[in-house]
Amino acid sequence: MTIGLIMLATSINAIAIVSDFNNVIPRPNNITILSDSDHFSLNNNTVVCYDIDNESNSIHLRKYIKDATGIDLKTTHKKHCKNFVRLAINEKIYNPEGYRISVSKNCCLIEGKTKAGVFYGIQTLRKSFVPEKSASIDIPIVLVEDEPRFGYRGALLDVSRHFFKTEDIYRFIDMLALHNLNIFHWHLSDDQGWRIEIKSRPELTAKASVRPETVIGHNTPKYDGKPHGGFYTQQEVRDIVEYASDRNIVIVPEIDLPGHAQASLTAYPNIGCTGGPYELWKIWGVSEEVLCAGNDSTYRFIEDVLGEVADMFPGELIHIGGDECPKTRWKNCAKCQAKIKELGLTDQPGRTAEQQLQRYIMEFAQDFLTKRGKRVIGWDEMLEGGIGGNAVIMSWQGEKGGIEAAKMGLDVIMTPTSHMYFDYYQTSDIENEPNANDGYLPIEKVYGYDPVPKELTPEQSKHIIGSQACLWSAYIPTFKDVEYMSLPRLAALSEVQWCMHENKDYKRFTNSLETLLRQYDSMGLNYSRRLFDVDAKFSTDADAKHIMVTLDAVNNAKIYYTLDGSEPDTKKNLYTKPFEITNSSTLKAIAIHDGFGTGPVYNEKIDIHKGVFRNITLHTSPSSNWCAAGCQTLNDALHGNANRESGRWMGFREEDLVATIELGDDNEVSEVEVSTCMVKNKWSFHASKIVVELSGDGVTFTTVATEEYPHITWDQNDGVRKHSLKFEPSIARYVRVTVQPDRKPEGHNVHGGGYVFVDEIVIR
Ligand SMILES: [Zn+2]
Repeated sequence: MTIGLIMLATSINAIAIVSDFNNVIPRPNNITILSDSDHFSLNNNTVVCYDIDNESNSIHLRKYIKDATGIDLKTTHKKHCKNFVRLAINEKIYNPEGYRISVSKNCCLIEGKTKAGVFYGIQTLRKSFVPEKSASIDIPIVLVEDEPRFGYRGALLDVSRHFFKTEDIYRFIDMLALHNLNIFHWHLSDDQGWRIEIKSRPELTAKASVRPETVIGHNTPKYDGKPHGGFYTQQEVRDIVEYASDRNIVIVPEIDLPGHAQASLTAYPNIGCTGGPYELWKIWGVSEEVLCAGNDSTYRFIEDVLGEVADMFPGELIHIGGDECPKTRWKNCAKCQAKIKELGLTDQPGRTAEQQLQRYIMEFAQDFLTKRGKRVIGWDEMLEGGIGGNAVIMSWQGEKGGIEAAKMGLDVIMTPTSHMYFDYYQTSDIENEPNANDGYLPIEKVYGYDPVPKELTPEQSKHIIGSQACLWSAYIPTFKDVEYMSLPRLAALSEVQWCMHENKDYKRFTNSLETLLRQYDSMGLNYSRRLFDVDAKFSTDADAKHIMVTLDAVNNAKIYYTLDGSEPDTKKNLYTKPFEITNSSTLKAIAIHDGFGTGPVYNEKIDIHKGVFRNITLHTSPSSNWCAAGCQTLNDALHGNANRESGRWMGFREEDLVATIELGDDNEVSEVEVSTCMVKNKWSFHASKIVVELSGDGVTFTTVATEEYPHITWDQNDGVRKHSLKFEPSIARYVRVTVQPDRKPEGHNVHGGGYVFVDEIVIR
């Protein structure tokens, strides 16, 4: 007994935890320290007094404090006069989610306009200190006044591509609550699986919730041979809705219509254009199999499903999809064509009859839900066929759709792939990352996002009601992976959603992030440490014939580097200022972060070949979006990896790449090397032809090497391929290189052919 007590005493830190509201993310609007010399001590004798609306909040507060520190607060509905935390409604607070924390020596008062506001005050309090076993928390004498910038602060989780258990969904909701999000967009149906019980349509879960196997990687020819699936019963859904609501989170369910519907077709083949048979999709992408819009039973299906969904989710918003619906089947379906005729739809400029048919089916769903007091959200393709009513547009294909919708007076949620797709890589070092969707979204880019586009007037801007991160789960197989892809990017998102744009400061954010990361640790959350990586920037000085290297790491971490390929450590080359490189080198660098150790080793080969520091002229244009840093990208001594979006690659599609490099004085050359990057799903293939020509005067060129390549086949792996063209050593002043994209890739139905991506034209 005595021994137990002694052990208990030593395991608790006798020093009080110190709370600091400056470390809270998202950063509160106003923090006023009222006294430096005193504090409020939260300890085992502190009582939480709550008014009737805040009973559940008192339970949350007690649990958060206990889990983080071991301190066991008492709670009471009675008033208390000493050493208490009061949770109360204050009507004078303006914003329905706004809150105020006022701390004095005797008490900590957390007030909100509503219980949601009080909830955010509690979140702020729990994020103001580093969790640790302790007997007390010293809270400064402070006034915190805070409210969110946007009313819609969402995150999407796709449970169709991969299914996550109910415990995982609860955990996801806890993650959203920790970051002050108030919307959970639950993507419940897609080509790869149906995930919600619909009692009037039992085949959905009986036949379409488990797929026999799943493709490995990015649509390789290999399958895992393992059944995958699951679904949520209506009771489980109701419990989850209640759990979320208790944390001020509204669930927006999504039933994707009329595309991404192969699960529906698998269960009920009669609602497809061909009548099937269908099976759950085992690969990723956009299926041509969609709901038949000319079939009456399709409309009965929509009513049955949406009717039960509307009953299960008390929130106003229901998402009905509307994205990526190929019209191939509709064009060849007698029923769909008859429906087009019946409705009198004809091709219009910028709007085909089939697109208008999609509008018809979406409006059918919208009318049905409106009558039940709901409001629909749809992806930005909803704008293609025209849209009516008070639908909310979710802008994912960039901001264009959102801007158009806001100008039309429609409410908009911004989820552009460029800043909000959390299934993208968070580092360019993809060789050392779990497989992810092709794309590059580092945390700094998320942080810098402003959901309100500059081209909108203040009046139009009011229609941007919020923003949302999307976690598509094709490459996110487990919930630990969901955590890894979400954290800490959700922290960056929380400031995008909560803070005024002008109050954001990336340096302040990273400096204050440690407290939140410790919170993740205490909750057992699996988060990425990629933001601690060394960041290297290179600039070429052609006149001085050197490359200037600048290294950086967040929070002024110490950086050590080597240039000879040896492993860096704290004994050599502390980085103090930018340095020059004049010869080919292998740069390796590490950053040492107090408390978080060493990140992965940064590794970069700087390849100073004969083409570097020379004039380069690009005679053709790259595809828009794929211009990288201009033509200098092609002779900057830097190579790309399998991630096309790292900024190292230029993409060509409409035109061949034709570039001339001026070597200056006569130079002997005998080899040109060109690497290309293939991502088959994104229509990027290897070159079909490469030509090397030399010239002494820049006018007359002689072809010295030509290589033609066969079409790639589906079973070839994505990634980088090196093409080396060798020829008789020759003296030349100019080297002209032509790289031709594969315009008719075999087995690809790609309009305009494929892209070819090139990172560097290496001359040796
Ligand atoms: Zn049809």
